[in-house]
Amino acid sequence: MNNILKNFVYSQNSINTYKSCPLKFKYKYLDKINWRKDDIGSREYYESLQMGSEFHLLCERYFSNIPLGINEKNSLKYTKWMDKIKKLLPIISENKDETIYLPEYEIRYNLNGNTITAKYDLVVINNNKIDIWDWKTENKKVDYKNAQNRIQTIVYMYLAKEVIPKLYNIDVNFEDVTMKYYQPEFEDEPVSISYNEEIHNSYNNRIDQYIQMIRNIELHNVKNDNHCKFCEFNKLCNGQEVEYQLLEEENYEY
Ligand code: SF4
Repeated sequence: MNNILKNFVYSQNSINTYKSCPLKFKYKYLDKINWRKDDIGSREYYESLQMGSEFHLLCERYFSNIPLGINEKNSLKYTKWMDKIKKLLPIISENKDETIYLPEYEIRYNLNGNTITAKYDLVVINNNKIDIWDWKTENKKVDYKNAQNRIQTIVYMYLAKEVIPKLYNIDVNFEDVTMKYYQPEFEDEPVSISYNEEIHNSYNNRIDQYIQMIRNIELHNVKNDNHCKFCEFNKLCNGQEVEYQLLEEENYEY
């Protein structure tokens, strides 16, 4: 067993990376090869990540009830996005309904001896219901099918149901856990993923299966050639230029 894997904290990012390509997982999480921005082509990609990061910070401030402090650069866009968030999720100052807002909330769970973590953009607890919110600022629209199949959805909903009711000492039915993906760039309503016990059990199995695969180091040199054009290691593996506009944002945590 690789020493790093002995105490590894699994996350949607690491599982997703493994699912894309086991060799990519090895490069990123075991060999810890750093991918640095060092050319002009990467600039636009990094700028879009930076916008996402800034928007996440503004949401964190809003739900923490502290001043937003919107940056002058791109202030029009951020103001428009934040107005949408305020309309979608108005915070009632007296909070009579005792809604709990947990921005940038991180939890951990021990699944069969392995630690797995989830860091949520926002968790809202109200009336024994849990809403998980995720902000997406990428240009590609998230649709229901895509959202439902994301490793992020699987890990986030599973951990929310297992951990949050115990921490807050509340009873939460499976059907009362919802995951919502919201893209402020689009006019649409959030994409809402519903839940039930059967889905929960299937998510348990899928997460466990992924962890067992990751722990099998014999699989670590397996390549997924279909993923190369979306991968930052394309130059390292195949000597080909990285196409930044194709890189998947979801592999990079804000
Ligand atoms: S370039 Fe291809 S083979 Fe190499 S790590 Fe990325 S996806 Fe895997």
